[in-house]
Amino acid sequence: MLLKLKNPAGMKALVLNGVKSFSLLDRPLPVPGEGEVLMRVAAAAICRTDAKMWASGHRDLVLPRILGHEVVGSLREDPGRLYAVWPGTACGNCSACRQGRQNLCREMRITGFHRDGGFAGFMAVPRTSLVAVPDGLPASTAALAEPLACAVHAVRQAAIASGERVLIYGGGTLGHLLGLACAERGARVGMIDPDKEKLHRGRGLRLRRGISVEDHSGADAGQVDVALNATSSPDAFMAGVGRLKPGGRFCLFSGLGGAAGDMHRLIDELHYRELLFVGSYGCTAEDMREALRLLSKSGDDLRFLIERTIALDEVPSAMERVLAGKGFRLVVA
Ligand SMILES: [Zn+2]
Ligand SMILES: [Zn+2]
Repeated sequence: MLLKLKNPAGMKALVLNGVKSFSLLDRPLPVPGEGEVLMRVAAAAICRTDAKMWASGHRDLVLPRILGHEVVGSLREDPGRLYAVWPGTACGNCSACRQGRQNLCREMRITGFHRDGGFAGFMAVPRTSLVAVPDGLPASTAALAEPLACAVHAVRQAAIASGERVLIYGGGTLGHLLGLACAERGARVGMIDPDKEKLHRGRGLRLRRGISVEDHSGADAGQVDVALNATSSPDAFMAGVGRLKPGGRFCLFSGLGGAAGDMHRLIDELHYRELLFVGSYGCTAEDMREALRLLSKSGDDLRFLIERTIALDEVPSAMERVLAGKGFRLVVA
């Protein structure tokens, strides 16, 4: 007797239908389009942006959607090799693309935003988005490649140089990844976060990388070369601006959760002290390659950033906690 398997060429997929509405569905395997391959998902980290999309949408989100843009997986043709996914799909022809700034491409389609991502058993991935994971790096650690690439991108955008004094607002996953990326450039890095528990858990990485914990006293006011925000707090933004030296740079790594206090004061700071502001959003495939090189030598130092691995059906109940910025990365694996 033939045993009839239920949905033999299918997979589980977590689909976001609308605000705070997920469904866990049985879906047929995605059919790769031209230039795409079918990837079996090995690990997909949950980003705070996923929780924000669940709670209130996002400029780049098109519904219904399988979220998950921090993804690692394998291909049927080469099952022993892991690949991280650069979540962008750029046109390759526009002026931004030709300058190597694919993350600013006007045709940009982001995996987990405009096209289906990794909160599923399988996904279709453009071949040009595959970045090989160095041997020996576990899938859950390699899932940090995309957020680390965003940190590498910010370091590039802010042109951080060896010996510069850098202050990072936020000691969560991205704050620590920014710390690592800045320290790798030879910067003297300080970090500020009111969450003592998070800072405590990152102390091993900071000790090995010479990253100090700072407070709000502003003892080094006027001596900071570059400030970066890994928090959406408008107060942290204004405090960082105040601590920059004349001619200093502020890298807007995060958007702000509200108006930035006194706009008049901000404009005066920019004008009289010749401050520079630079934005940073996403990453390029080249940033992903650099992030994976950095992960292959520092992956063990970053293990604390993987809080735990969870199953796909646990993702909806984790959203409130992720949205609140509690703890570090949860990885679906
Ligand atoms: Zn993310
Ligand atoms: Zn383009």
